[in-house]
Amino acid sequence: MSGEPQADCLFCRIVAGEIPATVVRETAATLAFRDIAPQAPTHVLVVPKAHYPDAASLAEADPALAGALLAEAGRVAADEKVAESAGGTGYRLVFNTGAGAGQTVFHAHVHVLGGGDGLREKL
Ligand code: AMP
Repeated sequence: MSGEPQADCLFCRIVAGEIPATVVRETAATLAFRDIAPQAPTHVLVVPKAHYPDAASLAEADPALAGALLAEAGRVAADEKVAESAGGTGYRLVFNTGAGAGQTVFHAHVHVLGGGDGLREKL
């Protein structure tokens, strides 16, 4: 898995600036933007700029980048004030992996979900 951009990938196109998104954080290796159909008061997606089809293949190919993605998710949660350390009530990180589990965009991403009472329900 090379990490090369894929022309037909929605998140590669957002990373390239070809499709607009509401960006909340950016590093050299990652981009964080608001989900277009939020499932919680805070719903941000954090993606590696490099293309990997899902989180597990990202972690296999580039563990440091997978770690950077998680660290960025934590910074998003702090910025959004959903992290307990920022006065919030906590947040969830979700990696849907495989179509049968609800993955619809096959570019690795983590959902940062916070700010809703329903989030207290256990999976
Ligand atoms: P998943 O179902 O885990 O693959 O998550 C894909 C997410 O991408 C969904 O929550 C969608 O609402 C979100 N999404 C789809 N298109 C866009 C877009 N253009 N900008 C932001 N989020 C999007």
